[in-house]
Amino acid sequence: MNFESFNFHPSIMAGVRALGYTIPTPIQVQTIPPIMQGRDIIGLAQTGTGKTAAFVLPILERLRSSPRGRIRTLIISPTRELAEQTCEVINAIGGRTGLKSAAIYGGVSMELQTRNLRNGVEIIVACPGRLLDHLWKGTLNLSNLEILVIDEADRMFDMGFLPDIRKILACIMQKRQTLLFSATMPDDIQRLARQILNDPVTVKVDPTLPAKTVSHALYPVQQHLKTELLKRILNNTKTESVLVFTRTKHRAERVTQQLLRTGFKVTSLQGNLSQNQRQAALDGFRNGSFKILVATDIAARGIDILSISHVINYDMPGSTDDYIHRVGRTGRVNKSGEAVTFVTSEDTDVIRDLEHLLNTKLERRTLRDFDYTAPAPERNSVPAPRPRQRGRALVPRLDRI
Ligand code: AMP
Repeated sequence: MNFESFNFHPSIMAGVRALGYTIPTPIQVQTIPPIMQGRDIIGLAQTGTGKTAAFVLPILERLRSSPRGRIRTLIISPTRELAEQTCEVINAIGGRTGLKSAAIYGGVSMELQTRNLRNGVEIIVACPGRLLDHLWKGTLNLSNLEILVIDEADRMFDMGFLPDIRKILACIMQKRQTLLFSATMPDDIQRLARQILNDPVTVKVDPTLPAKTVSHALYPVQQHLKTELLKRILNNTKTESVLVFTRTKHRAERVTQQLLRTGFKVTSLQGNLSQNQRQAALDGFRNGSFKILVATDIAARGIDILSISHVINYDMPGSTDDYIHRVGRTGRVNKSGEAVTFVTSEDTDVIRDLEHLLNTKLERRTLRDFDYTAPAPERNSVPAPRPRQRGRALVPRLDRI
């Protein structure tokens, strides 16, 4: 199958070609036709499958004709980064359609957003909190809405946005087409889907497994040796861009500083940064000025950079879901990627769940010439994050991992 079979308008096909897409991904093959028919959708798709274009393409096709200058599509996103990236996809594909989009999220001037909205846009990509601010102030009007997209619904639920989503839904009175995308389907999201979707078509694309193009390796290590191990791996491995995940903002900052001091081109992305700082970090990582980005889970979704060859979990993610989203940043659409995870004796439960999910025993790797028994230095080590559960052995037993 190719993109011609969808019969998109030439202005949209020009955008598809400009992005270099030739063959639609499975989620695109399955969702584009029913969306074009006006059906509601539940899209169970892991990140990196091409799901953004799967809804952006048919939306652009529908909005291309008919009225301009009023909000006809609302895409709700969990994070600012994902909202920005979705807008970028809309602009890249829809640049020649004359349709306008705006990203709406907190941490930046509301007045500026209001001015943009007044100029007239057809698509908004919004995070729930700031969207509600605009709705309550009357600076954003959803009375012409035709299509609602709830993207990464499970993530929004994890972030506690479900009450906000319900408030937003209460502001949309008219009949609309609704598309809900989620990597997983927890009970609350299923309930929401039943309430707001009308006879939906459900499309599943490997909902809970990482892309097959990603290989996985575990590196057992004591907490205080993680930074040394990280430096060693970065020095000895052929990498393109590398995304390093830590469990807390503080740890992201500390690891960044430690790598900077050793001369790595590194920046960080975590929730304490201003929107401008976050954007600068992402832009620098995307254009290759920084080869390494150290981030919290804020970056686990939505970062769409094809050159990420390695995801390194400096800290084990809190759940298998988080693991899938983190490693989904590499191995994007047919590129291969490597997921490296540092594990301590604290992490045995998540490893067990992960191996169960992947249905395989993950490879444990050790580096030759690395002193795994070196004592904790007095300065410069990153203090261990709080243990996830009480009553666990704190004595490192690497042999048990
Ligand atoms: P997503 O799952 O929407 O985050 O998309 C993941 C990556 O796949 C992005 O870099 C897209 O630009 C890319 N992509 C989406 N659709 C296609 C396609 N049909 N062919 C090649 N790359 C694609």
